[in-house]
Formats: sequence, structure tokens, C-alpha cells
Amino acid sequence: MTIHFGPAGLGPVKDAVKTLEDYSKKGLEACEIAFTYGVYIKHDEDMKIIKEAAEKNKIKLSIHAPYWVNLNSSEPKKIQESKERILRCCEVGEKLGCYRVVFHPGYYGKMFPEETFDNIRNAVKDMQTIIKEKKWKIKIAVETMGKVNVFGSVEQIHKLIDETGCEFCIDFAHILARDKKVDYELIKKLFGPYKQWHCHFSGIVYGDKGEKHHKKTEKEEWKVLLNELEKFKDKDIVIINESPTPVEDSIEGLKMWQGLR
Ligand SMILES: [Zn+2]
Repeated sequence: MTIHFGPAGLGPVKDAVKTLEDYSKKGLEACEIAFTYGVYIKHDEDMKIIKEAAEKNKIKLSIHAPYWVNLNSSEPKKIQESKERILRCCEVGEKLGCYRVVFHPGYYGKMFPEETFDNIRNAVKDMQTIIKEKKWKIKIAVETMGKVNVFGSVEQIHKLIDETGCEFCIDFAHILARDKKVDYELIKKLFGPYKQWHCHFSGIVYGDKGEKHHKKTEKEEWKVLLNELEKFKDKDIVIINESPTPVEDSIEGLKMWQGLR
């Protein structure tokens, strides 16, 4: 049973090597590169340097794909562009030695959940075909979503991975915001069979419609989550912290985890 802690965000390319060394010195073992507003690492040489630094410092890298993705748009062109954005992350992520590209699946628009599911499943399968053709090792991971009126409940995400074999990102803050509670028994039932878990975590402000924004992770919140995860015997878990202070919060989680072991 292993948990790798790390922040969302690598920061500027020019500081990346130093940043990874710094994370490693702090005991962190993961980092999610934020391509949320675009794929900002552009040169092959930079990718190579960052990949080597991550390997040297034993940091597991992942990518967060752009927010501007909707695999259930009513416009085919927008679905195509969304797939291309995720696949561009895969291409760059492969060169960076990343193991996952996390993405937000899409919106309902005017469609029913069933139709939405079918469209997203088809788009995921299309991307998997290309990833296979290119012989990339990187895997796409669909994230549980925090707003009530978008696709991405734990049940929907589970059905999607069941039907496509894609990877997943369990965002515990999103689940709390969407469902107003985290049903750990349900999560264990749905995701328990999978050994490798990629997770997001932070404090969160939410209302009736779900997620409003992320906030600092409270000690008590870490405690509840880690106590639940501690019950597993054989999982390999990455927890990416997405609070406004993700490095400090990751260190806090790591220290608490070490205290539990
Ligand atoms: Zn996300």
C-alpha cells in the first residue's frame, strides 16, 4: 500500500528542474502538470529535461488536460477539437514520461444522461484507438466532477471505465460538492477492484449546484480521507492536491500519512 503525494502545478518551464528537486526534498512523489489553460511546454528539449529530472527525483508526473473540453457537444467539430486537445496532452505527456492525462468528460447540454454517456464513451474509445496506434504508454483518466448538472458522478465514471477500460481520477472534493457527502462504501465498491488510483483532493466550497471553488485542505479532512484509504492493503495511490496552497497541503497530508503508518 503506497500513497504518493504531490501538488497540482509544476510552474514555469524555466524553473521546472529546480521545482522538481524542491518537491522531492520535501518528500513529495507526484506532480500534475496543469495544461488547463493550454499545453505550455512546447519544445522537445524541455520535455526531455523535465522527464529526466522527474525520473531522477522519483516524481510521478501526470497532466491535467485543458478545461475547454466537451466530448458531448452538439457540434461534431467541438467534439473533434476536444479529442485533439486531450490527444495533444497525450503526445506531450508521453515525451514527459507522464503516466496519466486527466480530463473533464463533458456537459449534458440539452441531452439526456444516457445519450450523453454514449457520446462520451464513443469519444473515449476513439482516443484509445489512436493512443494504441501510436503505441503510447500514457493513459487517459476521466475525472469525477463537482457540479451537479455536468456528466461525472461516481456511478457514471465507473460505468465509463467498465465499458471502455479507460483510467480514472477520483476527485474526493468534487464528490463532496456534488453529493454533499463522500460515500466511501460506494467508492470502495465501485473502484475497489482497481489497484491503481489517481486522486484529486482539497478543501472545497460548494452549494446546491455543487462545486464553487477549491480551498485550503483542513487537517480534519486529510484525517478522514487517509483513515479510509489506510484500510486498503494493496493499492498504489496518487493524491494530487488542488488547494490554493497545494505544496503545503500535500506536505501536511504526507506527514499525517507517515503518522498513521
Ligand atoms: Zn479537474
